Amino acid sequence: MSVRASASVVHTAAPRAHAITIDVEEWFHICGPIEAVACERWPSLRSRVVETTRLLLDDLDEAGARATFFIVGWVAERYPALVTDIVAAGHEVGSHGHLHRRVYELQPVTFRDDIRRSVAALTAAGAPDVRAFRAPEWSINDRSLWGLDILAAEGFSVDASMAPVKLVGSVSYPRAPHARSTASGSLLEVPPLVADRFGQVMPLGWGWGLRMSSPRRVLAALEAAHRAGMPGVLTVHPWEVDPDPPRVSLPLRLRFAHYFRLDGFRARLKTILRGGDFGAIGDLEAVRAADRA
Ligand SMILES: [Zn+2]
Repeated sequence: MSVRASASVVHTAAPRAHAITIDVEEWFHICGPIEAVACERWPSLRSRVVETTRLLLDDLDEAGARATFFIVGWVAERYPALVTDIVAAGHEVGSHGHLHRRVYELQPVTFRDDIRRSVAALTAAGAPDVRAFRAPEWSINDRSLWGLDILAAEGFSVDASMAPVKLVGSVSYPRAPHARSTASGSLLEVPPLVADRFGQVMPLGWGWGLRMSSPRRVLAALEAAHRAGMPGVLTVHPWEVDPDPPRVSLPLRLRFAHYFRLDGFRARLKTILRGGDFGAIGDLEAVRAADRA
């Protein structure tokens, strides 16, 4: 058994089969030119992130699962006590950018400044050693591979931003953790869980794909991945378990991504958490092996 520095829980030193990740953001952190949720309006919109993240902390605690929390720097700046509590509960903290912007819409220097701001906010709130990154809307893809160079140069060792699906990434991306070499060193890329269905690749581990699937189906897919020697990585957002979710009018694709089948999701997620062997990304054998290398 080992105790993580500044953590209040004890967890086993054994690797976990799967990882659960939480992208800590407000319900209004929606990518794209949506006037109703534009950056300038954020301070005046109803904040729900603290209450809803606490629901997920409770559910993880109940299931005995550790998680990686990819936190938006803007959230860490406003609610540092939330970051402190996430760390104190023994979870891992990574960056989800500062202003939740798509990487491929930024210039390299703007992206670098954005991640620096997020790391500064997370560190000021008590997060130790932020070395994992998740891009908003899986926005490191063929249009923004330069982002990986910047992450490595900034001291990150893990990226979890490249989705092996067509809409936001590419079906050609590997489905298992793999090394990506950059001009500034190597990064371990940790992709989210996908599934083949009706001749398409669907996002089984996050978003509408996770919300529409029964816990039994998700657990079966995790088990199949494990048998094939791969971890399954799930991603949830605090706004997906909000009992009183605010809404704005969104274009069809975003409406589906954000609002489809939120009903009952928290209960289904609890069943999934109880049924699988979940840890943080750092608890995966592939990540530990890369750390040892
Ligand atoms: Zn996000």
